[in-house]
Amino acid sequence: MKYISTRDTSKSPAAVSSAEAIKRGLAPDKGLYMPTEIPALTTDDLTKLSGMRYEERAADILSRFLTDYDKNALLADCTAAYAEDRFPGGAAPLVNIGGGIHSLELWHGPTCAFKDMALQIMPRLLSRALTMTGESRLAHILVATSGDTGKAALEGYRDVPGVKITVFYPVDGVSSMQKRQMTTQLGENVNVCAVYGNFDDAQNGVKAIFADNALAEKANDAGFFFSSANSINWGRLAPQIVYYISAYCDLVKNGTVRMGDKVNVCVPTGNFGNIFAAYIAREMGLPLGRLICASNANCVLTDFIRTGVYDRTRTFYKTMSPSMDILISSNLERLLFLLGGSELTAQCMAELSSAGKYTAPVSLMEKLQSVFSGYTCSEEETASVIRNCFENRKYLCDTHTAVGLGAAEKYQKESGDNRPIILASTASPYKFSADVAESLGVTLPSEEPGDILAALSGATGTEIPAPLSRTLTMPVRFTQVIEAKKMPDVIF
Ligand SMILES: *Cc1c(COP(=O)(O)O)cnc(C)c1O
Repeated sequence: MKYISTRDTSKSPAAVSSAEAIKRGLAPDKGLYMPTEIPALTTDDLTKLSGMRYEERAADILSRFLTDYDKNALLADCTAAYAEDRFPGGAAPLVNIGGGIHSLELWHGPTCAFKDMALQIMPRLLSRALTMTGESRLAHILVATSGDTGKAALEGYRDVPGVKITVFYPVDGVSSMQKRQMTTQLGENVNVCAVYGNFDDAQNGVKAIFADNALAEKANDAGFFFSSANSINWGRLAPQIVYYISAYCDLVKNGTVRMGDKVNVCVPTGNFGNIFAAYIAREMGLPLGRLICASNANCVLTDFIRTGVYDRTRTFYKTMSPSMDILISSNLERLLFLLGGSELTAQCMAELSSAGKYTAPVSLMEKLQSVFSGYTCSEEETASVIRNCFENRKYLCDTHTAVGLGAAEKYQKESGDNRPIILASTASPYKFSADVAESLGVTLPSEEPGDILAALSGATGTEIPAPLSRTLTMPVRFTQVIEAKKMPDVIF
């Protein structure tokens, strides 16, 4: 299977192998790589997958997209990435929280957020891609993070041979725990740097570096090249398709649905990566009904789904779900490409970059709205969802998952659709413990992360994840704060 750019409007688009697409991250024309076809998933396939362990399911699904990779190599990589020591108790457990909602807990990995699901496997895919493409230069991974990707990428890439990684995060745009996790990161090949501004400033800085030919040449002369670990990289997205398929298999196995019955999916969304992976699973043939896109106060996506107007020229809010504080949702570009083709995608992206907005054609919106619903949760709603969920469902959820749960509940009420919903639970509540505790009405003893973790644990009778309590005693290694325009200097 080959990969082409979402913005390549030529008659016969330049196609690259999956190894090449993963190595590059972004296409030369700044478009995103997409497979030329979506592999089909039959009922027979699903029955077979149901009998497998998570790592076998992952290797099976990945091999359908990464056709140039050796199947046994993929199985070895998945087995190592999703091993018990990295994901204690299993990689993506499904918890029935009542009312037809099943929480797909994607945060049992080393950094307690769903980014681990992709970033534990992706460095292995990149390492192989470097060998497969005969690459002799060092790969320098550049990451802009709203908090969770940065830590997960650092943990995934640390001390991987042939790779360096620099992570940029918005100085006031991440939680104190997220900051602590990143600034205490171990590893000889890692660098972490705060940037003045919000996530979009950091992400635009990284995108500008990728698009700068002079910088690419300078890097080449110094013996390295830039690559990305953000969800603009196909190597990030492909592993995310797996857990929706895996969750469906689990729902069949535990008797919630019969094979072939449809279920809905609800995803708290920022960069549109996680929910786009669900869309790909649906396109493969996984019996999914509606895909519910949940936004926090930065509701640029839900507005788009409802109106067809994508408008990033609006107030940016700092919310208690900071990993979704995003106004430029990069992966929406992939959906535009699938529904409307490269010509339209290139045009919309040009308008977004020049005017900050675009309007999608009605024909495209009809297709989109036949699959996606969009719901927004305000800060007050998010807090009350956390409280009600704990009181009524006896389930403690983080701020991002709460935005998703609020959206799922609104959808159920408005639509009357009573199909089961797979809710993507994207972080441990302890990663955002101050806001979770305050939503529950717990008075915080101090601003110290350790005290806050203990207070949440005491009030809820739940356990603090070991990777988070470990960071409390580790020394801070990275303290640099810079203007976005200085990002290239930090790298060189
Ligand atoms: C990254 C992240 C999201 C948003 O995921 P996207 O793929 O960007 O839509 C939601 N919740 C948490 C906890 C995250 O880390």
